[in-house]
Amino acid sequence: MSHTSDDAKPVSNNFLRAIIERDLDAGLTQGRKFAGTPGDAAHHEGGQVDPARIRTRFPPEPNGYLHIGHAKSICLNFGLARDYGGICHLRFDDTNPEKEEQEYVDAIKEMVTWLGWDWNAGGTSHLFFASNYFDFMYRAAEYLIEQGLAYVDEQTPDEMRANRGDFTTPGKDSPFRSRTPQENLARFREMRDGQHADGAMILRARIDMASPNINMRDPALYRIRRATHHNTGDQWCIYPMYTFAHPIEDALERITHSLCTLEFEDQRPFYDWLLNALADGGLLARPLPHQYEFGRFNLSYVVTSKRKLKQLVDEQHVTGWDDPRMPTLVGMRRRGYTPEAVRAMVESTGVTKTNAWLEYSVLDGYLRADLEGKAARASAVLDPVKLKLTNWVELFGSAEHKEACHAPAHPHVPELGTRNFTLGPDVWIEREDFQEVAPKGYHRLYPGNKARLKYGYIVECTGCEKDENGNITAVLATIVPDTKSGTPGADSVKVKGVITWVSAHEAIAAEVRLYDRLFTEEQPDAGGRDFLEVLNPGSKKVVTAYLEPSLSAVAADTKFQFERHGYFVADRVDHRAGKPVFNKITGLRDNFTK
Ligand code: ATP
Ligand code: MG
Repeated sequence: MSHTSDDAKPVSNNFLRAIIERDLDAGLTQGRKFAGTPGDAAHHEGGQVDPARIRTRFPPEPNGYLHIGHAKSICLNFGLARDYGGICHLRFDDTNPEKEEQEYVDAIKEMVTWLGWDWNAGGTSHLFFASNYFDFMYRAAEYLIEQGLAYVDEQTPDEMRANRGDFTTPGKDSPFRSRTPQENLARFREMRDGQHADGAMILRARIDMASPNINMRDPALYRIRRATHHNTGDQWCIYPMYTFAHPIEDALERITHSLCTLEFEDQRPFYDWLLNALADGGLLARPLPHQYEFGRFNLSYVVTSKRKLKQLVDEQHVTGWDDPRMPTLVGMRRRGYTPEAVRAMVESTGVTKTNAWLEYSVLDGYLRADLEGKAARASAVLDPVKLKLTNWVELFGSAEHKEACHAPAHPHVPELGTRNFTLGPDVWIEREDFQEVAPKGYHRLYPGNKARLKYGYIVECTGCEKDENGNITAVLATIVPDTKSGTPGADSVKVKGVITWVSAHEAIAAEVRLYDRLFTEEQPDAGGRDFLEVLNPGSKKVVTAYLEPSLSAVAADTKFQFERHGYFVADRVDHRAGKPVFNKITGLRDNFTK
């Protein structure tokens, strides 16, 4: 199911390619053994030479829904594996028992697939759960203790914090740092066996409390936490810290290139320290994985942090994780963005050492490029006012008479067929298509002017009707005879204005949801600002629109170009036959920058 490289595609700037090519040329990944499943050194030693030239992984924590930033990481990891004859693993980094749920696991798998990627390669699944490595992690911790490389610290959290020092001050050794390996091992087993309260002590690496890199000042490896884990239940009351668990996960899976975002750069020395210690002890196979950091990918006018997105959902600022305004992949899918557009955007941005902010308008450009050739056209009136054709009975003999009209479903894709609809005496047009007094250059309806009802007749505006408050309730016009589109007389009268319309007698009333930016500021959470203060109160507008009758029975998730308005999708959640609901994806041109 994964898509193949397109030769025509410009190769975007990606410094990781140079690194991988360098490593492949040097034969660094050659001859590694892989036993077919994750495991320790002995396990892989008995395996075959790895058929994958490189191994990468996408390692989400199943504590929320994926967002557009994750799409960057997914396309990067799966894309590099595809391009260099490698394999990419989908690994759930589920070592934290508190926030993780099956719901998120399922949603993440669904979205990786939606983006077009597959963790099955060569007939084998590469879907892994870090919690399956708890036994190994525990063994690794005991090994470090035995080597004098880890100790149980019983300082209070406040003491630990104070003794860690800061950028200018070296840390101070814990009074527990000089315990013997035997004492530490006994203590650590007590931790595991539930003999100590949550938070009473932690296991720490024993490295260097004076290191200029604060992450090397005896980082925490294990903590006590009585929490039920979604996979291992109540088997454990101690859990590994992320910084300890992640390198081990990579090594057990024989990842060659471990790609992460820039904030992990300072963790790399510990990553290497830990893996080398465990490989020296024969627990992990060499060559070891290497970590490389790249800049985060962000969209402007939204936030991309699972914690903040969860807050938007929990406090009901949006309707859910899949609210079409959310930068989550489920939200973007529901909004109508296609996986092709999302992929094209993230792949076009390159991979650099700086964090990048991208405009939605760029994504919209890719969306239009994708949908322009695919989406069927349809007529829709979003801000309706009635147009009465006052000479109808005189021309056609009866108000019941209807004039058949046709239009291509797509101007350049004849295979999509023809749309059929009829013209009657009353039609819906856009309110902005009538002006009592026309501004200069206005070619639509105003008294005395002629314009074409698209795919129908030319009409001449004669005025309007108003209510007692002066609001326009109907526009009046007469049909110019023998000017119907597709007939010999169609060009007999020249007009400059073309108007979209839907006949009142067959129009389908639909709920149409129009979306704007979720926030009013480009970087809503910049500089520690409370991002909720800059929510855009006008980010969602709901209108009742009139649609042409061919849209009466479309399937949810079908995308259309509503002529002149832009691209719309039948909402995958709320759309029903008989109760249509459409979302606006984007306009025909970029209208976010105005
Ligand atoms: P968040 O801060 O939104 O919770 P996270 O990094 O904590 O994101 P993880 O589930 O740990 O979420 O992320 C899985 C992978 O996706 C990681 O390798 C992470 O580096 C990557 N990733 C997350 N956000 C971005 C982003 N904005 N740009 C690029 N990669 C990202
Ligand atoms: Mg994370």
